[in-house]
Amino acid sequence: MQTYSTDGYVMLSDALPVHKLLPFANVDGIGNRTSIFVQGCDIRCRYCHNPETIMPYTHSQLRSITSILEEIEQYRPYIRGITVSGGEATLYPQALIRLFSALHTMNLTCYIDTNGFFNLERTKELIEHTDKFLFDVKSLNMQNSLCATDRKNNMENLDYLLKLNKVEEVRTVFLKDIMDAESVVAAVSQRIAPHTDVQYKMIRCHLRGISSEYIPSLKGHIPSKADMQNYKQQAEALGVKNIILIY
Ligand code: SF4
Repeated sequence: MQTYSTDGYVMLSDALPVHKLLPFANVDGIGNRTSIFVQGCDIRCRYCHNPETIMPYTHSQLRSITSILEEIEQYRPYIRGITVSGGEATLYPQALIRLFSALHTMNLTCYIDTNGFFNLERTKELIEHTDKFLFDVKSLNMQNSLCATDRKNNMENLDYLLKLNKVEEVRTVFLKDIMDAESVVAAVSQRIAPHTDVQYKMIRCHLRGISSEYIPSLKGHIPSKADMQNYKQQAEALGVKNIILIY
């Protein structure tokens, strides 16, 4: 049985809907980390590379916080911490606060990978318990051509986290024409350039793993390598030094 509040948040405190738990990953934040992919996402991007995580969770996917902690305890000698990805992790604030509080007593760091459109008021307490965020910036004004949302609060949320020094990485997946790529690069770069430890990961969209129904509408919008170099140069010109380009 799912317990939703009226704004879509899930009021679970003793269990988390887990799509998959990867004992070791080194692409979800610095160092070797355990990655937990939660089930359920609130914005449904056309280019989602984990489309199986979008649907609401089923009862069989719920794992108790105790059982997750017991599993992580086995990996503890080999990891710096955990990253909760998805799906959208911030939909489960109470469960994550409980999980992160316990993990901090085990000296493990706790990261969240977010789509950036969370309700800030509903998320503030979770942010206090989170060490770092990996933060997607999908668009400034064209998100409804990429995702099932009209929300535009992502940059406000990014500003809030940057002020708290809680951002490790900003990520953008690039498409041509159906997203405002140059505007995104400008908005992100102006914000993160003063934070030299924040990395900007610029990812060229690819079609592997994308839901087959969306591939025809995305096919003609994949940027060239030259386009990606241009986006990188634009960010560098605005003072960003820590850039990873993924073709
Ligand atoms: S926010 Fe992430 S998990 Fe959710 S639909 Fe978009 S790409 Fe997929």
